[in-house]
Amino acid sequence: MLKIYNTLTKKVEEFKPINSPKVNIYSCGPTVYDYQHIGHMRRYVGDDILIRVLDFNNFRVKHVMNITDVGHLVSDADTGEDKMEKGARKFNKTVWEIAKMFEEQFFASAKALNIKKPDLVMHATDYIKEQIVFIQALEKKGYTYKIDDGIYFDTSKFSNYNKLSGQNLKDMKAGARVEMVKGKKHPSDFALWKFSPNPSTSSGQPKRLMEWESPFGIGFPGWHIECSTMAIKGLETETLDIHTGGIDHIAIHHTNEIVQSEAATGKTFVKYWMHHNFLLVDGQKMSKSLGNIYTVEDIIKKAMPAGRQGFEPLALRYLYLQTHYRQEANFTFEALESAQTALNRLRENISNWGKPKVGCAEFEERFLQAINNDLNMPEALSIVWELVKSDYPTSAKAESLFKMDQVLGLNLGQDQKLEVPEEIMKMVKEREELRKIQSYHLADQMRGRIKKLGYNVLDTEKGSLVKKIGK
Ligand SMILES: [Zn+2]
Repeated sequence: MLKIYNTLTKKVEEFKPINSPKVNIYSCGPTVYDYQHIGHMRRYVGDDILIRVLDFNNFRVKHVMNITDVGHLVSDADTGEDKMEKGARKFNKTVWEIAKMFEEQFFASAKALNIKKPDLVMHATDYIKEQIVFIQALEKKGYTYKIDDGIYFDTSKFSNYNKLSGQNLKDMKAGARVEMVKGKKHPSDFALWKFSPNPSTSSGQPKRLMEWESPFGIGFPGWHIECSTMAIKGLETETLDIHTGGIDHIAIHHTNEIVQSEAATGKTFVKYWMHHNFLLVDGQKMSKSLGNIYTVEDIIKKAMPAGRQGFEPLALRYLYLQTHYRQEANFTFEALESAQTALNRLRENISNWGKPKVGCAEFEERFLQAINNDLNMPEALSIVWELVKSDYPTSAKAESLFKMDQVLGLNLGQDQKLEVPEEIMKMVKEREELRKIQSYHLADQMRGRIKKLGYNVLDTEKGSLVKKIGK
């Protein structure tokens, strides 16, 4: 039984998808205005683990992720510049170039970390029309109002606005954390559509780089509306099984996704909300001023003292797995070095093992329990090491470990395949051909030659098994 923590109920719950074994998942994807760093990537590895665990439990997952290439303002409270336009100015490129460049950088990092690609990737700018239709539906139901700045959602019309974050509206007002847009009725109201600056009234404001015609006026969609629109369209359902994101999305972005979706459809938007915690670097929040923002590329390129091997992205993946996704993690280069060492050691062990055969049920069962207990990967990793150090035959350990690696995603199976040198494999193939034509004498001679090079060949029903002698 798979159990996951649901931010909505604040409990670890048994996972029961609406239409089992199908599972619909929507993940908030990157805003492609700047480099995605190792903090962002921790979250996507977390999503990848979730999806692998669901696969492992024989669910049939459909995973949709968006790419925010418009409408995400610097402040979540509908003030400040559009992040895309800001990025374009910063890197002296067009918004479209920025979007392409950083989307590529994101997917390159994801690939390096062995993150499976979502089934569907949706770009906000490809669904402007659908977002407009969504806003019109809300307008028709009386949930919106228009001010000089744009079309806003009236949160006072929606009961239970803060069911996800649990914070109350009074705190929001008192805390004054939310900057007010002129004309906004309540601090929690949010923009569905923002108008482009009117050239005749907004002296000095630059013309927007991205804007669209709409029945409301020329402008661009707010950030939140894209996720509701694309989640419902991409997953072809008004109620999703799982929605994921960072914990920073809870208070505003996901809260607003819920209210606008439920206002429009009259149905529960999401059954299970899952949120990933942050990554610190050397115990501190990543920031420009501290110079501690690293990308996956920075990690790979990190100069090592002479004679030392550099880091692999999979070592970073290993490091991520060492902390539970709901806990804050801390990145240090020492920790990365330990993770790299652990990964190397794991591979060294495997390279000596026999070919996978009947696994160790006891360890497989414990592993399953750990991953099904709200994706407890630190526990799963410790079970992996217990298995590696156990007295089971290496062929049994290999069988179990490769199964576990479907969830870990450390590509451990590949390391064993590399164990037998190509020249040996060529001889093994040749020997198989000889056996096919019943030249058993020549086949035996070939076996002898292979043995002299340190490998044993066993004939099985499934073909030749090659093992290093003495292992
Ligand atoms: Zn989102």
